[in-house]
Amino acid sequence: MHILLTNDDGVAAPGLLALWRELITLGHTITIVAPANNMSAVGHRKTLHKPLRIDPAVLADGTTPAWSCSGSPADGVALALKGFLPDTVDLVVSGINPNFNLAQDLTYSGTVTAAMEGVIAGVPGVAVSTQARALAEYAPAAGWARRIVSLCLSRGLPTGVLLNLNVPKAPQGLKITRQGRRIYHDVAVIREDPRGRPYYWIGGDEPTGEAIEGTDVWAVTHGWASLTPLDLDLTAHHALAGLQGFVDAA
Ligand code: MN
Repeated sequence: MHILLTNDDGVAAPGLLALWRELITLGHTITIVAPANNMSAVGHRKTLHKPLRIDPAVLADGTTPAWSCSGSPADGVALALKGFLPDTVDLVVSGINPNFNLAQDLTYSGTVTAAMEGVIAGVPGVAVSTQARALAEYAPAAGWARRIVSLCLSRGLPTGVLLNLNVPKAPQGLKITRQGRRIYHDVAVIREDPRGRPYYWIGGDEPTGEAIEGTDVWAVTHGWASLTPLDLDLTAHHALAGLQGFVDAA
């Protein structure tokens, strides 16, 4: 089996090293193609108006060979699957992101969209996130990633489905979840540059979320690893019938 490993924090990020160290124990071939720089929260960016480069790189240990891509996380996956790699890829694994990717985070996440790019190209994907600041803190997420990746390789995933794994510190087990609802606390900070012109910076406290049982937000805040199956169909199926009435009433 052949695993394509990527992330959105850049090829030198500790979470990528932690994930590689754990997955290599499965005994499969792993190719790493990750962004040259931190590409967190770029969403599903696709670079169409400038050339992209892939260069030799190493992971945070300074020795493990990898490839760095000048584009977005999804660009790297697309290039890898559509010609850069001569061999077939069986699974795309993205992470480990140092912050959870829950609920509406998925629309921003470069970690998750890298795995989505795999699914678009017909290769199943797994995205892995945790809450970590030091290399050792990635261990629980790396361990759960190993178990889920092993299952995906041996049993496969339904066509078009990717998995979003979030692992808190010291998880008591794993829950299968649905997307919950984030509450963001961002504000536009307005300051003045040295020439007297305003500039803006989006920031604020860490996002929280609604504690709805069965959701990804609920699971990680109650000490469970969260595994959510994702589909790229964003249709609001519950709104289809109502929309017909809405249009007909015009
Ligand atoms: Mn990131």
